[in-house]
Amino acid sequence: MTRITVAKGDGIGPEIMDAALSIIKAAGAEIEVDEIEVGEKVYLAGNTSGIAKESWDIIRRNRIFLKAPITTPQGGGYKSLNVTTRKFLGLYANIRPCISLHPFVKTKHPVMDIVIVRENEEDLYAGIEHQQTDEVVQCLKLISRPGCEKIIRYAFEYAKQYGRRKVTCFTKDNIMKQTDGMFHQVFDEIAKEYPAIENEHWIIDIGAAKMADTPEAFDVIVMPNLYGDVLSDVAAQIAGSVGLAGSANIGEECAMFEAIHGSAPRIAGENKANPSGLLQGAIQMLTHIGQTEVAEKVQNAWLRTIEDGIHTYDIYNADVSKQKVGTKEFAEAVISNLGKQPQQLKAVSYDKEAVLQLPKYRRKPAKEKKLQGVDLFVHWGGNNADELASIIKKVNATDVDLSMITNRGIKVWPDGFPETFCTDHWRCRFKPVEGKIFTNRQIIQLMQLAEQQNIDIIKTENLYAFDGKPAFSLGQGQ
Ligand code: NAD
Repeated sequence: MTRITVAKGDGIGPEIMDAALSIIKAAGAEIEVDEIEVGEKVYLAGNTSGIAKESWDIIRRNRIFLKAPITTPQGGGYKSLNVTTRKFLGLYANIRPCISLHPFVKTKHPVMDIVIVRENEEDLYAGIEHQQTDEVVQCLKLISRPGCEKIIRYAFEYAKQYGRRKVTCFTKDNIMKQTDGMFHQVFDEIAKEYPAIENEHWIIDIGAAKMADTPEAFDVIVMPNLYGDVLSDVAAQIAGSVGLAGSANIGEECAMFEAIHGSAPRIAGENKANPSGLLQGAIQMLTHIGQTEVAEKVQNAWLRTIEDGIHTYDIYNADVSKQKVGTKEFAEAVISNLGKQPQQLKAVSYDKEAVLQLPKYRRKPAKEKKLQGVDLFVHWGGNNADELASIIKKVNATDVDLSMITNRGIKVWPDGFPETFCTDHWRCRFKPVEGKIFTNRQIIQLMQLAEQQNIDIIKTENLYAFDGKPAFSLGQGQ
């Protein structure tokens, strides 16, 4: 018996939660439910996070959280409960299966069956942003080795558990050689541990185009946060079934399962909503807690019901549907199909032995780290790089030379092009003179000299080599 936390949420939430729970219980799910209140009422009672402290205690104790959609009230100050939950509980993996149900649900991609595995905590979503000059703001893209290892291993273990043949990685490492480069490199390392599963890497732009055009070429796709956010919606939409998709948010300790749609307030309380999205989330929950046989039984009964043409209004189509039903009647139809297999759609069969085995991240031995220089970022309102170079050259610290100036990453000095558009945000790179070493002391000296020259330093970035390999980008055009 597994104790789970359930939140019925807002709008259609209570109806679809009752439907989903009735189906999985009828299928023999061994769960006990602790219900908590989250969402609109809690927000409007003055709690801007939408959840009370005691509810966090229950979620953390039970570790498994099945959540119906909630309504985030309009107006400032209310924080998204989804984002807060993900971050607080360290839910690093977002898993969204996108399957087409052709010919029963309309889609341009009849044989699509893909799973998007999205890293959920890092990348540009670390939320570290700064304005640095009048003209330039920045957002830090943070990618960590533990973050990459956890999500990529999860993708391969998931593929193993669900009998999937291939894991694809999407990155833009031809441009972002350090951040996306690390994601790709870790993918290649971990892929070697799973010789029975095919692996491949695509550059995200052409990969996304291919996915939208020929989704049948893919199986499991793993990617960093931002790409995953965008492409998981594209995948759900082109499967033809945004209202039918569920998603899992998985952490080392806790996990949260939900539908991908919202609380649909306009049809709330009318017994019209389709409970399938939340049911898909509940099925992911059952496999996560090891009740794979129940999960399989529910999924096959659900596929059979869709195939029988028993449809809620949102997917009802006179050409293929046989009966338009409400939320409750749909749930009853799925329950009466428990034990049956779909006849046209592909029945699922989960490997009962392959329960997800995710080792804790083990820190690697530290590499030899050597300082090789520094980038001083300067706020300067001129637009001639040669003029800036002559000002910066007055900052002549011991055994250090100005080696390059870039603007938005493009080299503008030495030998820049007058055509290059420049903002007020300049990167001035200092390197040691030939044969000399570079230390933190020189960075301090550079800062002091710059201050004496009234140069507006807005930040510095150290340039390192790890085990002799330079680990920083060159200037574009360098
Ligand atoms: P929505 O997903 O609630 O609705 C979009 C459209 O899809 C509506 O026409 C709706 O009637 C229909 N729809 C959605 N789910 C359906 C279902 N199960 N069966 C039949 N039809 C369904 O999106 P929205 O209208 O943009 O947002 C409504 C509220 O939901 C907002 O307050 C938003 O903040 C919230 N929301 C919550 C979550 C979540 O809790 N995970 C996600 C998205 C939106």
